[in-house]
Amino acid sequence: MSGDLSPTNQCAPAPRAFAGDALVITCEHGGNRIPPPYRDLFAPHRALLDSHRGFDAGALIMARALAEQFGVPLLSATFSRLLVDLNRSVWHRQLHFEPVVELPDTRRQQILKRYYHPYRSQVERLVTEAIAASGRVIHLSCHSFTPELDGHRRTADIGLLYDPARPGEKALCARWKRMFALHAPELAVRRNYPYAGRNDGLTTWLRKRYSTEAYVGIELELNQKHVMRTTQQWATLREAVIESLHAAMTVCDDPAAKPKPVRGPNRTAPPESSYALPEPTRRTTGVRT
Ligand SMILES: [Zn+2]
Repeated sequence: MSGDLSPTNQCAPAPRAFAGDALVITCEHGGNRIPPPYRDLFAPHRALLDSHRGFDAGALIMARALAEQFGVPLLSATFSRLLVDLNRSVWHRQLHFEPVVELPDTRRQQILKRYYHPYRSQVERLVTEAIAASGRVIHLSCHSFTPELDGHRRTADIGLLYDPARPGEKALCARWKRMFALHAPELAVRRNYPYAGRNDGLTTWLRKRYSTEAYVGIELELNQKHVMRTTQQWATLREAVIESLHAAMTVCDDPAAKPKPVRGPNRTAPPESSYALPEPTRRTTGVRT
């Protein structure tokens, strides 16, 4: 899981090093909870809630591990994306699952007001604060994808989604991919796969609010087949993500430089509860991760 930089693994030229940047972690599809007022609506759809369409298996565990290791804020949601998808704009046709779309407009507005807008405002506030403190923020939005979709097997273990027109995002993902090759060469890492980073989403929305110099938005996508494997394999994958990101952020363009070891659990990590969306209802459905 560790090694020296060989000449072929030197980091790509970047507009700026990433070591001084702030890091913010979010997880929009962390759970499949349905708040009580909407449970009747979802009662016939239990299997769907438990599937990849209901939530991103493993994404919240990954997000928590990253936030703990780097000692940075985590904002996460544990209600299902089928109620309202925090990674879609309000105009997107997949903002809600079909039965929610058919609700009266006043009830859909309540859902936005109670669950959607507070999350979006909170992530915007975190990003603004991080930029004010450090000049630039790296926002990492954690997701996972189903190994097979519509009969097609996905050919990557890890996806790094970004906007190729943003130099900071392009440079960081190039470095991160190289560091994966160094730390975990067995993993297939693809950029802008299985989705394009410029698609509608939280990072795309934030790019419109912050300059390319101030905001670096990356979506991390994990293949869910790893989440379903043994505890040790799943832990090894998380370790590879953390070590490779740490190396990508800290290794400079000096060929003699070597990746620093990832520091241990950070005792000063901000408590997640300080940043997590307040639970408006009691949780009765577990997060299946
Ligand atoms: Zn997702």
